[in-house]
Amino acid sequence: MSCLMVERCGAVAFKSWEQNAIQVRMLADGRLNTGHAGVLLAERRGSYPLIDLRILKTSAQQGEVETVTRRKVKRLLSFQRYCHASRLLRGLVPHTPRSLHLLDDDYLGQAAHMLSKVGTWNFDIFLFDRLTNGNSLVTLMCHLFNVYDLIHHFQLDMVKLNRFLGMVQEDYHSQNPYHNAVHAADVTQAMYCYLKEPKLAEHLSPLDVFLGLMAAAAHDVDHPGVNQPFLIKTRHHLASLYQNTSVLESHHWRSTVGMLRESGLLSHLPADMSRDIEQRLGSLILATDINRQNEFLMTFREHLDNQDLDLQLASHRHFILQIALKCADICNPCRVWELSRQWSERVCEEFYRQGDLEKKFDLEISPLCNQQSDSVPAIQIGFISYIVEPLFEEWHRFTEPSLLSQTMLDHLHKNKANWSSLRCAHTPSDVQSRSQAEEPEGEVGEGSDIP
Ligand SMILES: [Zn+2]
Repeated sequence: MSCLMVERCGAVAFKSWEQNAIQVRMLADGRLNTGHAGVLLAERRGSYPLIDLRILKTSAQQGEVETVTRRKVKRLLSFQRYCHASRLLRGLVPHTPRSLHLLDDDYLGQAAHMLSKVGTWNFDIFLFDRLTNGNSLVTLMCHLFNVYDLIHHFQLDMVKLNRFLGMVQEDYHSQNPYHNAVHAADVTQAMYCYLKEPKLAEHLSPLDVFLGLMAAAAHDVDHPGVNQPFLIKTRHHLASLYQNTSVLESHHWRSTVGMLRESGLLSHLPADMSRDIEQRLGSLILATDINRQNEFLMTFREHLDNQDLDLQLASHRHFILQIALKCADICNPCRVWELSRQWSERVCEEFYRQGDLEKKFDLEISPLCNQQSDSVPAIQIGFISYIVEPLFEEWHRFTEPSLLSQTMLDHLHKNKANWSSLRCAHTPSDVQSRSQAEEPEGEVGEGSDIP
């Protein structure tokens, strides 16, 4: 960990900065905890071991050493070595984005063509990632920074910006089926679509846009591919560092701060401004904690009921950015079926891998992580009904009249119906409907191959 070191430089001044900073600080939600004397702490890059040997020690202390067979210990150690090795290998790659010049001009031409339509909701981020040789996040962010003229506005150093974005992209784990850099790029693209909503766009300052895009790009950085309960029950050092609360989100935020400082991206800004940017990024990233879903939903609903949102106020705009980021983070079920289905399968694959790990090491299998009992359709229907639908209905109310929100809700309802058909088809007793489920109500496009 390193303490806050900010270069003092008064070269750049921004209109009403102080005023906005004060307003937004007032809404700080108490979770933006700092270290001693209010100093914000950053995390070193790549600072976590995925599985801690303390699992074994704890088992031994509890007299369960017999259950931890020699084979299991060996497997655990080799898994740890694998994780460590993959980190080391990743460290050998230069801290810059993989070079684009390796690609055929044709690919780059197609990627550039896709960028000309980056604001459309059916943007295929998987294809874009292939066309950019796995550099979707860096390429997308550079493009959007140009679209909004943020480099000029904040007088950013292109080399530092590239370095920062390269670090962020690299610190996502490509071995995670879901929480990888493509998910970050997907959330960033969705965030861009939401920032363009007419209700919001005219009120946004360059700083709002900068924070929205940065938070989207970095919101899951260095995600280990397991959830908070797993880190808590395995007594992972991150769980104790963040006192079992918003463990992953705090890690994503503090890691982002670490990379901001390492790259020096904001080092030319006045100290209070870069500090404030770090805090606001934290407030946005911490809002993605799914455990705080109801808290945000209720506040959003209340504002809409009372019609008291005033987007002239920096604090209200910040709240809407939090909601927009939450929507972007869970918007997969609102995408066109072919894209939506891929995300669903990826997230479930990540859950099942966690379940397999838990099984291997005699830990209780977490909810949704048991491949034998938790099917993809069942997980998706629950997720849509309890998490996605309620939030997007309110977002629709906020953005109304919005073609995008209506499109998203239409996809959401169709996708939910598809999963329902597939769930019925996968009930063992219901053999007859299985064949129908391969193409539920004509919503599933060609090539659908849900197992
Ligand atoms: Zn996410």
